[in-house]
Amino acid sequence: MTLTHRKDTRPVKVGNLIIGGRDEVIIQSMTTTKTHDVEATVAEINRLEEAGCQVVRIACPDERAANAIPEIKKRINIPLVVDIHFNYKLALKAIEGGADKIRINPGNIGKRDKVEAVVNAAKAKGIPIRIGVNAGSLERHILEKYGYPTADGMVESALHHIQILEELDFHDIVVSLKASDVGLAIEAYEKAAEVIKYPLHLGITESGTLFAGSIKSAAGMGAILSKGIGNTMRISLSADPVEEVKVARELLKTFGLASNAATLISCPTCGRIEIDLIKIANEVEEYISTIKAPIKVAVLGCAVNGPGEAREADIGIAGARGEGLLFRHGEIIRKVPEETMVEELKKEVDKIAQEFLEK
Ligand code: SF4
Repeated sequence: MTLTHRKDTRPVKVGNLIIGGRDEVIIQSMTTTKTHDVEATVAEINRLEEAGCQVVRIACPDERAANAIPEIKKRINIPLVVDIHFNYKLALKAIEGGADKIRINPGNIGKRDKVEAVVNAAKAKGIPIRIGVNAGSLERHILEKYGYPTADGMVESALHHIQILEELDFHDIVVSLKASDVGLAIEAYEKAAEVIKYPLHLGITESGTLFAGSIKSAAGMGAILSKGIGNTMRISLSADPVEEVKVARELLKTFGLASNAATLISCPTCGRIEIDLIKIANEVEEYISTIKAPIKVAVLGCAVNGPGEAREADIGIAGARGEGLLFRHGEIIRKVPEETMVEELKKEVDKIAQEFLEK
């Protein structure tokens, strides 16, 4: 499947990455540690990076958190976004401390001079501001106008914050319009994409636990991505944030939007099965999760229809009695004993990934 992804958004620089202006969708997550606990926060960020997280956000609820930013920044490799609510002093401190982007709604900062101070500081450091509209916390005047949270109200809220920044000649903006209601989020992003030229950060908020939240997020963000909308995304789960990154990568792979991740094709199993497929599929999935090449690896329970059905796989294995058949692009290349077939497959995966990376 080739998706025509929207590329006409303004490119915005976040650390060493560009969000928008291209068809890449950047994966983000957010730490769950207390930000002032530098050790724990850095350890979590490093785990997230290893899982494929490209940009990480930390909460900055107080002075202690803001004071930790320079040290955190020094010890991590991926761009750091600092999330601030209302408090302009914390925003200034975050910018000074090395944030690569801040998330704050200018309309919530208060008096004009405070907004200007934050915008000027962001401008001086060349960092963007993300405006985060949330259906659950729309401004009173918008709720009064629409009666309840609507997609039009959310877009109007975003435009209101954008206008404040544009009036100050600030244009390095990213916008999110999150809702926990999937239909509302889809409609809001669709409407926003028509009128907002800035990159959009996708999210379905408060989506739930690992299982339910992944499905809800995939349903909502899948619908949005399928329309070519979205430049960066976070899957929000009540779970270890590493899981958020894994789900995001899987979702992007589905749409052909992850250029640096391997995909597993595994058969649904049936009565013809010759190997312990579920165990093997999980093991291979875990193994390929760190491969940074867009290869397809198949694991099939038997050789009846297997290799032919998984013709698009770069490499794969099909179970046969007491052995495994290694195949490449639908053609069997050799037989391997059952006991070593997973190891053999892993070696082939490494070889093919290396070939891709050297291309
Ligand atoms: Fe059944 Fe074999 Fe197809 Fe798997 S590959 S579903 S075991 S026929």
